[in-house]
Amino acid sequence: MANNKLVVIGGDAAGMTAASKVRREQPEREIIVFEKSDFTSYSACGIPYFISEKVKTYQELIVRDPDTFRNKYHIDVRTQHLVLSVDTDNKKIKVLNKKTDDEFWESYDQLMIATGGKAFCPDVAGYDSENVFGVTTLKSGINIERYIEDKKPQNAVIVGGGYIGLEMAESLLERGLNVSLINRSEQVMNTLDPDMGALVSEALRGLGINLFLSEVLIGFDVKEGKVIAVITDKQSIPTDIVILGMGSRPNTDFLEGSKIELGVRGAIKVDGQLRTNIPDVWAAGDCTESLHLVSKEHVYIALGTIANKTGLVAGSSISGEKTVFPGVVGTAVCKICSYEVARTGLLEKQLQKLNIDYVKATIESRTRAHYYPNSKKIVVKLLAEKNSGRLLGGQIIGEEGAAKRIDVLATALTHNLTLQNIIDLDLSYAPPFSPVWDPVQTAARKLINSI
Ligand SMILES: Cc1cc2nc3c(=O)[nH]c(=O)nc-3n(C[C@H](O)[C@H](O)[C@H](O)COP(=O)(O)OP(=O)(O)OC[C@H]3O[C@@H](n4cnc5c(N)ncnc54)[C@H](O)[C@@H]3O)c2cc1C
Repeated sequence: MANNKLVVIGGDAAGMTAASKVRREQPEREIIVFEKSDFTSYSACGIPYFISEKVKTYQELIVRDPDTFRNKYHIDVRTQHLVLSVDTDNKKIKVLNKKTDDEFWESYDQLMIATGGKAFCPDVAGYDSENVFGVTTLKSGINIERYIEDKKPQNAVIVGGGYIGLEMAESLLERGLNVSLINRSEQVMNTLDPDMGALVSEALRGLGINLFLSEVLIGFDVKEGKVIAVITDKQSIPTDIVILGMGSRPNTDFLEGSKIELGVRGAIKVDGQLRTNIPDVWAAGDCTESLHLVSKEHVYIALGTIANKTGLVAGSSISGEKTVFPGVVGTAVCKICSYEVARTGLLEKQLQKLNIDYVKATIESRTRAHYYPNSKKIVVKLLAEKNSGRLLGGQIIGEEGAAKRIDVLATALTHNLTLQNIIDLDLSYAPPFSPVWDPVQTAARKLINSI
């Protein structure tokens, strides 16, 4: 078979989804996967729940281990192999076998890059102390869990108020730690508008988290290899453990000199079939940029939802199918204790930057009929184009049952629906699930009045 040998770099969501799809379509194909860690196909999304002990063992987070891929799917997975560079002219990659320290070149007919993202590391001395942890890989999750188990830290400082920082705050609270969180901007969750972010900040304080907003990490006070205090531009916060949740960027440094074109924040540029600018080279997941269907701009959004879908489309494309990944609308959801936070589409600041004339409305409603037990507050904010009424973005904060309503708005955005279209949707209702007007429709009714 022409183009017989497929080499995949990166053995998690995007890489193994692509490899598995190719295996299903082409049972005889030679497929080699290079993965620098010991693990394949695990749920990084589950790490906070392993640390909180909701999930008892890290093995439960592994969907398929390397032996299963080797024995059941005949995919030659080589763990502890780090790819150092790519030579697209000669169709080969340079690999370091971490077990033996040997370097070698491996040829490919087709190449799939799925190296994911890597966490931002602060440029301050002491970031490599034994009690400072990023949360990116399963190994990092295991290290945090072991440290908590062995050293029994009492005070934690989380740097960064994005969704990973919040999920980690929940995990550490549940392990009984006293949690402080510092955040550079005026509210946590800068994927929300500040007015909605403020509701999350308020909820965090209500949970007992010491929240320090508009505060910047400037250093660590290190004693005997351990950080004993986090220094910000305003204060020094004593701590026993530090968790970094400062965002991530694409893991593409090893592509320098490869002629593979990079775009937003160094993410690999791909087309709808996940092809790069170099023939026979595909890429998917957190190492790639995506097309935003609302702004029509290329964006960098690192999420498992996108990694799994783009991995599948890349696998289809490698197998010769014509499936296309249309793009994203920026839908994300997270939970911190009893609170749920969801967002999709564009924020006010993005609409202003794009010079789009928009209107907005925020409503407060209930997650169930007001008389039904455990009905909780839900706040929905919608943004729509002023003249057409086309939905542009939505944000939801509430308690149980609030967040997944974002999927109605994500569907509306994907299909260019207007506020009237949303009001007309035949959504379900019974008292245990919602008021008779679902809160997203109540918000659309309020906003349509301003058009
Ligand atoms: C704590 C946490 C919680 C999350 N929660 C959610 C969530 O709730 N919802 C959601 O949608 N997303 C979530 N995500 C994001 C999601 O996990 C990622 O988007 C997804 O794992 C990306 O998959 P990927 O295959 O593109 O990259 P990765 O999962 O990062 O996999 C890349 C793989 O490539 C390997 N690799 C990298 N460089 C090399 C190299 N040079 N040579 C060999 N191997 C290499 C890495 O070891 C890794 O195994 C979360 C992430 C974290 C860390």
